[in-house]
Amino acid sequence: MSAMEISPATVRTTCPYCGVGCGVLATPDGKGGAIIKGDPDHPANYGRLCSKGSALGETLGIHERLLHPMVRCSNDQMEAVAWDDALDHVAQRLHHIIAKHGRHSVAFYLSGQLLTEDYYVANKLMKGFIGSANVDTNSRLCMSSAVAGHKRAFGSDTVPGNYRDLDEADLLVLVGSNAAWCHPILYQRMLANKQKRGAKIVVIDPRRTDTTSDADLFLGLKPGTDTALFSGLLVYLAAQGALDNGFIEDHTSGFAEALAQARRIAANIAATALATGLSEADVEKFFRLFASTEKVVTLYSQGVNQSAQGTDKVNAIINCHLAMGRIGQPGMGPFSLTGQPNAMGGREVGGLANQLAAHMNFTPPDIDRVRRFWQAPHIATHEGLKAVQMFEAIGRGEIKALWVMGTNPAVSLPNADAMRLAMQKLDLLVISDNVRSNDSVNSGAHVLLPAQAWGERSGTVTNSERRVSRQRSFMAPAGDAKPDWWIVSEIARRLGYERAFSYQSSAEIFREHCRLSAFENKGTRDFDLGAFSEITESDFDQITPALWPARADASMSERFFADGGFYTNDKRARFVVTEIPVLRGEKSAARPMLLNTGRIRDQWHTMTRTGLSPRLGQHLRFPFVEIHPRDAQMAGVTDGGFARVETDHGQCVLKVTVTDRQQPGMLFAPIHWSDETSSSARVGALVAPHTDPYSGQPENKATPANLFPCDYPQQGFVLSRERLSFPGGAWWTRVAVTGGYGYLFAAKQGVPWRAWFDDRSMGQDLADYVDAVGGVYRAASFDGDRLMSCLFVERAGRPTEWDATKDLFAEETLSADQRRLLLSGKAADATANTGPIICACFGVGRNTICDALKSGAARSHLDLGAQLKAGTNCGSCIPELRRLVAETMPDTEQAAHREMATAEN
Ligand code: SF4
Repeated sequence: MSAMEISPATVRTTCPYCGVGCGVLATPDGKGGAIIKGDPDHPANYGRLCSKGSALGETLGIHERLLHPMVRCSNDQMEAVAWDDALDHVAQRLHHIIAKHGRHSVAFYLSGQLLTEDYYVANKLMKGFIGSANVDTNSRLCMSSAVAGHKRAFGSDTVPGNYRDLDEADLLVLVGSNAAWCHPILYQRMLANKQKRGAKIVVIDPRRTDTTSDADLFLGLKPGTDTALFSGLLVYLAAQGALDNGFIEDHTSGFAEALAQARRIAANIAATALATGLSEADVEKFFRLFASTEKVVTLYSQGVNQSAQGTDKVNAIINCHLAMGRIGQPGMGPFSLTGQPNAMGGREVGGLANQLAAHMNFTPPDIDRVRRFWQAPHIATHEGLKAVQMFEAIGRGEIKALWVMGTNPAVSLPNADAMRLAMQKLDLLVISDNVRSNDSVNSGAHVLLPAQAWGERSGTVTNSERRVSRQRSFMAPAGDAKPDWWIVSEIARRLGYERAFSYQSSAEIFREHCRLSAFENKGTRDFDLGAFSEITESDFDQITPALWPARADASMSERFFADGGFYTNDKRARFVVTEIPVLRGEKSAARPMLLNTGRIRDQWHTMTRTGLSPRLGQHLRFPFVEIHPRDAQMAGVTDGGFARVETDHGQCVLKVTVTDRQQPGMLFAPIHWSDETSSSARVGALVAPHTDPYSGQPENKATPANLFPCDYPQQGFVLSRERLSFPGGAWWTRVAVTGGYGYLFAAKQGVPWRAWFDDRSMGQDLADYVDAVGGVYRAASFDGDRLMSCLFVERAGRPTEWDATKDLFAEETLSADQRRLLLSGKAADATANTGPIICACFGVGRNTICDALKSGAARSHLDLGAQLKAGTNCGSCIPELRRLVAETMPDTEQAAHREMATAEN
């Protein structure tokens, strides 16, 4: 089928968020932004985009951008300098530190947001020329347990299947994955399979997420017990005679030992139920379904990977697929869902401290091969430090120089307070990024290098199914921003490696990357992009999304291992003997709960991009902690109130959500907020730095914790054209709004709001309204007819109603009538406050939805779609729409609705 014609002004590119890797059509709007649509020809999404992808056009402004190289000067201030000065400075400092402290005193910390070409050049510089393997990436926090599990089982980091398997499977098992929020377009693909072909969905997760709303079976197991569940499954498959003995015999080794250990972990259904906290009936139902369905795909994500036993969990899953020979065939196989847009590209180039390059390892033949290919003078000969170890070494003063590219470790690493302190000890902290300010930049950076952002840069990314796609530029770079590969190459040249880093384009780097993948690779390595080794610049511009392997002789299929052929020495897959699962962090009287962390639907990572979109900020506006009603009662916290969450590593203050979707004894808090976006919600600071022994991936899902009520008698909001500093006694969180910054706050009694507002509005016209008895204070400041800021303070306990005021703030100037209306907080047409946005694609608010349901105008999510368009684009909000239907309608109607929903399924 030929690709859809697009206008010459439109560019085909790829979404910069999650590992689904959706194709995007971007058309510059002539005002510095772009109109964004899904690419109907991209095989990952066929035209669909989720709420985050759809809102990309709102994130392209240059307000928050780092526009020029900056260097910390003798007066401790950052000053803008020319590129040559910044590059000379970094190269001289690196040279000096290496000469004085050795090659291993420097480290790079990279990002799954980088393009493959950026990753390739950074990895080559560190491992081939500086001579250390201290190059790791935030992908360590995302999928390194999947990598380690793949390598243990297959001898290579291979994802055996592809997305078409999700369309063709009859059973989709989601383990530790809230795909409805975190991989929404793939989740919709799974739902389409369910609707069209009747595929069953099983969700395995300690938390009842939105992904469970379409599940045929939900297994809400105890945290950390996935290995027990899949060990029990292996035992069951053996007992039922459901094994593929031929496959086991011909293509694997270690089955007997793995089965014996599985029996020790979970000898039967009763033992599995006991270990996992599930009912025997549910365990049996799952086991029967798995055993009796030939086409099974088991998808796993952060709930499996982000664990101190993550690699064992991955292997316990793979063991079951190997035992049934269900791998590498249409609709079958284990499938790792990667979190980041280019985590897979990072794995391809070897951008992890325990990989060398191009799926080669630190074995003597591989070291020699890569050395010869790169003509490397100082090839690294052993693994470097993985992320958590790397930052601990920085804290001990063993690493003196760190270059962070495109990530925010002061927020995202576990034990983030300690990691931030460590960064402050560095002799040289270089950060190349798009943004001028984030928590890592503010952790004592000595040099800031402006990198090109999505829309400006050009290169390739690889998604979860091994599909290489282009990110293409459609905007001029902001200020002096440069491609990351250019920045790294310029430093390499200044370190004396001119010849090896003389790249002129990303296509040239891509060609070299492809040549290395094929170098002395006669089918001995899975990763092979040899077909593109000689690609021309113009063909690189036109290249369409392609799966690897892509051999020069086109001799391989697009799936792996259907007939064995694993990448171990004897070509057999390894059954892995997993450890008996034990959580590293233990609950105690002081820490009676376990803290689980994760993502929310409309935000990405530390919100440096999604946090710019007013649309995306309106769904879940507050950083929050979820708690079961029983625990909430015991802790004395209430829904909508605030709590201080405390672990042995740090504390945060978060808004409380009481919900039985959380199991007793567990808390859940999202990871996205930072010190830039909230006063006390950097959840990474709470997380214990326990890591998996094989992958080095931290345990983000089960840190012992406690929580205590926080009393804030006041609440309110501020809208401002500038960023603000809040007075003492106030807790705040920032939300993007059209025309500036929105802040929602809660406060102790006695905060001098009036004086604070007056101070910051100096020289502007002021208007205010006081109701001392009602505890209300409202004020606004104007520059002529332009509203500059406004403050609303009231007693705590009511929903924040700021929609009408936000709408006025979005106006360039206000009329006399609008100005009079402003401090009433009401809209001129008396329309209702729409409330938090549930459907981000069409901006449909919770209040609007509930009004439609209460009035009887809508009785199902389909009605809501027909009347309000809610849920009719990406579908990510449908589970929440269903919940609102269930909560809003009377019991009898709920029963009818449930029947209707069942019929829809
Ligand atoms: S699912 Fe959403 S965030 Fe992920 S790549 Fe697609 S549009 Fe982007």
